[in-house]
Amino acid sequence: MDNKAKYLDPNLDVEQRVNDLIKRLNIDEKITLIRGKDFWTTNPIERLAIPPFGMTDGPLGVAWHSSHWGKHTRFPATIGLAATWNKELAYKMGEVLGKETKLAGRHQILAPGVNIIRSPLCGRNFEYLSEDPILSSEIASEIVKGIQSQNIAVCIKHYITNNSETKRMKISTEISERALQEIYVKNYKRIIEKSDPWGLMACYNKINGIYGPENKYILTDILRDQLGFTGHVTTDWGAAKNTSGAAACIKAGLSLEMPGMLLSRIMTPRKVKKALKSGEIVEEDIDYILKPLLRTFMRVGLFEQEEQSYSKVTDIAEHQDIAQQIAEESMVLLKNDPNILPINLKEIKKIAIIGPNAEKKFGKPFQGGSSAVIPPRFITPYDGIKSYVSESAEIIDDPKDADITLLIIGLDHGGSFFKTLLFKTEGDTEGSDRTHYGLAKKQIKLIDETVAKNPNTVIILIAGSPIDCSEWYDKVPAILNAWYPGMMGGNALARVLFGEVNPSGKLPVTYPKKLQDHPAHKSKKRFPGDLKEMKIYFDEGIFVGYRYFDQHHIEPFFSFGFGLSYTEFELSNIQVDNSSIQEKGSFTITVDIKNKGDIAGAEVVQIYIGDDECLVERPPKELQAFEKVYLNSGEQKTVSITLDESAFEFYSVKEKKFIIESGSFTIWAGTSSRNLLLSTKIIYSK
Ligand code: BGC
Repeated sequence: MDNKAKYLDPNLDVEQRVNDLIKRLNIDEKITLIRGKDFWTTNPIERLAIPPFGMTDGPLGVAWHSSHWGKHTRFPATIGLAATWNKELAYKMGEVLGKETKLAGRHQILAPGVNIIRSPLCGRNFEYLSEDPILSSEIASEIVKGIQSQNIAVCIKHYITNNSETKRMKISTEISERALQEIYVKNYKRIIEKSDPWGLMACYNKINGIYGPENKYILTDILRDQLGFTGHVTTDWGAAKNTSGAAACIKAGLSLEMPGMLLSRIMTPRKVKKALKSGEIVEEDIDYILKPLLRTFMRVGLFEQEEQSYSKVTDIAEHQDIAQQIAEESMVLLKNDPNILPINLKEIKKIAIIGPNAEKKFGKPFQGGSSAVIPPRFITPYDGIKSYVSESAEIIDDPKDADITLLIIGLDHGGSFFKTLLFKTEGDTEGSDRTHYGLAKKQIKLIDETVAKNPNTVIILIAGSPIDCSEWYDKVPAILNAWYPGMMGGNALARVLFGEVNPSGKLPVTYPKKLQDHPAHKSKKRFPGDLKEMKIYFDEGIFVGYRYFDQHHIEPFFSFGFGLSYTEFELSNIQVDNSSIQEKGSFTITVDIKNKGDIAGAEVVQIYIGDDECLVERPPKELQAFEKVYLNSGEQKTVSITLDESAFEFYSVKEKKFIIESGSFTIWAGTSSRNLLLSTKIIYSK
């Protein structure tokens, strides 16, 4: 090995180093690099001092099974992170993920999970962000920036249209070009523009008949040529196995087949050499897919690292504080009649804490799938509430004798991945979807029994997906959605319930009144799909989530962006600095917001834009920006948001690109997609 080799010099430009290294690798070495060595690493090449590149699962933290059975900070479910609508917290979470990935001796974390939440029933909703590509990409790109600030690569996943788990290894998503671009690609487009992610995972499923890892249209035409992605593409684990072979995957633009061993059988040396020999591929094709992987090696400092070591446990208070802060801001107050919350400890002596999720510890081996992050400790709702009230109130079991009852229910985080697969248990988990939208019958019965004993019953939902609340909504005075609040969740929950933290979470997904109202559930073909044909039809097109409810004037149970507070906010005075803008222009919207109540709190100012007239059908409005604002009692601030013309764009199938039609647009501001009291107009002209 030549110590003065350019690729080893960290002071040189990454591209120069990559080009130098690729020249030095022989064809056999190149081939060993594009397939995993074992479950979590790539093959080292001693001759050129290339160490193994190590990966660990995410997205809720550094997972146990991929970090030498280590324990690390367990964050709230990322759907909860999205419910904070707080970009700064997303960045901070990313920073911690980056730091802990490094401590675990890995170079890449298989996170964030950014699949659009297309249905309330998808088993992995808890690992994703939102039904809306703008909210999803705003939060995801901050996670990416945070992780990569630590020289750790991300792996945004699962590209693309893997929006349910049923038959995910075989099913084909049948989707129109416009829907693909305007909802699903748009999410990636914005993440790539904002944060330049270094890695991406190709999905298991087919997209219009072609598997993700061998889909050139998806991996090259869109990802590289249209979106300018600079990172490397890995398969989902074992995802290449159903493809038509090494040549197809290589030609499509796949950089790495994972994992190694028996689970990866496509980009094996024998098969790749055979494809070379037959002329199906040439060495330049391998160079083309390998370069982005080598680029990632340079970006994470693979050649500069000291001897590879790892810590088995990360128990860092600062990291756990961030997890707690996210949990606190993620909780969505869905009902509070007549202001039963926050609980006033001066008036309460006995609190009953009951329900199947009160003492459940999430974060067990393989629990829920890839996000099985085992924390060094776990504060359950019961633990957190009990220690919070220890001096002032007694915790009891029987609602009959309590001043207030906290009934903690929801979903199971999958039991174990294998159990779910074998016994088809319902829950938020990888590998399967829920089959119904409601709570388990036993839990509904428990609500009835509890309320009969004590009408002062607060429902706390611990779940990673929307849940049908219609059957029991009227029976209880308050509902708080806590998602899966992570290792510090019990403390966070206590602070919200007793008013130390004012809830400020907003729903990143629509809760339909009934499943049949939802665009993904108009027929079985749409979800879980036609399982004989092995096709899932995204027939709702661009009308995903609230876009559909708006278009068809359907009242949701809880709307996208909804969430109550212990205080009241008032928005006024919407202004836009330019009443008309030209091509390449930008404009600034200002809105005043006042906290009219007696306590401090935070509100999310949400900006939606609708095209007043267009030659093609468009959603009545789409989220384009948001800002979370913190206000003391009586305080007023002016929020100022600058947008560019992309806020008006849609995908033109005719022109095969995002375009804007000249004309008038309405800008709305408000506090949920169904509470938009302010509006103004703007004209766009070319
Ligand atoms: C999941 C991925 C995960 C990978 C490695 C797959 O089954 O879909 O999200 O990163 O396994 O565990």
